[in-house]
Amino acid sequence: LHRGKTALVTGSTSGIGKAIAEALAAEGANIVLNGLVKPGEDDALVADFEKRFEGKIGFSGADLTDPEAIEGLIGYAARDFGGVDILVNNAGVQHVSPIEDFPVAKWDLIIGLNLTAAFHTTRMVMGPMKEKGWGRIVNTASAHALVASPFKAAYVAAKHGIAGLTKVVALEGAQHGVRCNAICPGYVHTPLVDAQITDTARARGISEEEVKRDVLLAAQPTKQFVTAEQVGAMAVFLTSPSGDQINGALMQMDGGWVAQ
Ligand code: NAD
Repeated sequence: LHRGKTALVTGSTSGIGKAIAEALAAEGANIVLNGLVKPGEDDALVADFEKRFEGKIGFSGADLTDPEAIEGLIGYAARDFGGVDILVNNAGVQHVSPIEDFPVAKWDLIIGLNLTAAFHTTRMVMGPMKEKGWGRIVNTASAHALVASPFKAAYVAAKHGIAGLTKVVALEGAQHGVRCNAICPGYVHTPLVDAQITDTARARGISEEEVKRDVLLAAQPTKQFVTAEQVGAMAVFLTSPSGDQINGALMQMDGGWVAQ
C-alpha cells in the first residue's frame, strides 16, 4: 500500500507509536522513528525494523518540546527520505493531579508535547504535502479529546486542542489531497499499563482481573483494552484509499466509553 512513501511517527519507540510504525512499515512505507531513548537503543530499534520490514528505516531522537529540534527532525526526513508523506503525531505524556496542585512545569510540558509539537510538525510538512497533492496526517488523540476525567487538566486540554487542530488542518488540506484525522483510543494495553495493573493489584489487595474491570476499565463498557495493534490498523485504514473521504474525523476506539 505505501511502498515508496515515507511515514514519520513521533513517539514511536514504544507503545502505540511503535505499533503504528510497524503497521505502516508492514505496508511497505519507509519509516522515520522518533522518541526519547537511552544510548544504543535507537540502533537496536532501527536494526529490528530493518530485519522485519522492506522499507528504509531511520531514527531521530528529537525532543519534541523544542521547536528547533522539530525543525531538525523534519529537515532530516526531507534530506534523507525526500520528505514526509504520512505524518503521525503520536508522542505524548500524562500527569495526574488536582488542578490546584498541578505543577506548572507539567502543564507546559504536556501542552508543549501533546499539542504544540503537532502544530510545528504539521506546519512544516503541510506546504510540501500540498505541492505533492498527497499527504496523510494522523493524530493520536484520546477519548480525552472528547470527554474529560478529573485530575487530568493538561492532558484533556491538550487532547481537546488536538481535536480542534485536526479539524482545521482537514479543512485546509481538503482540496489539496491532504487528509487529517485523529484516533481517539480509550485505554490501550501498553507495557506501561501492564505495570500499572500489577502495582494496583498489589496495592489494593485485589486480583489483576478486578483491577482491569473495576479500576482501569471502569469507564470502558466492553471492559476490554484497546490493543496498540488495533490502533496501528486504524492508522493504516485512515491512510489507505478506503479512507480518502475520511477527513477531520475523531475516530473513537474506546469500547463505547464516550457513547455513555
Ligand atoms: P508510551 O509512553 O508507551 O510512548 C510515548 C512515546 O513518546 C515514546 O516513544 C517516548 O519516547 C515518546 N516521547 C516522550 N516524550 C517525548 C519528547 N519530549 N520528545 C519526543 N518523544 C517523546 O505511551 P503510549 O501509551 O504509547 O501513548 C502514545 C500516545 O497515545 C500519546 O499521545 C497518548 O496520549 C496516547 N494515548 C494513549 C492511551 C493509553 O491508554 N496508553 C490512550 C489514549 C491515547
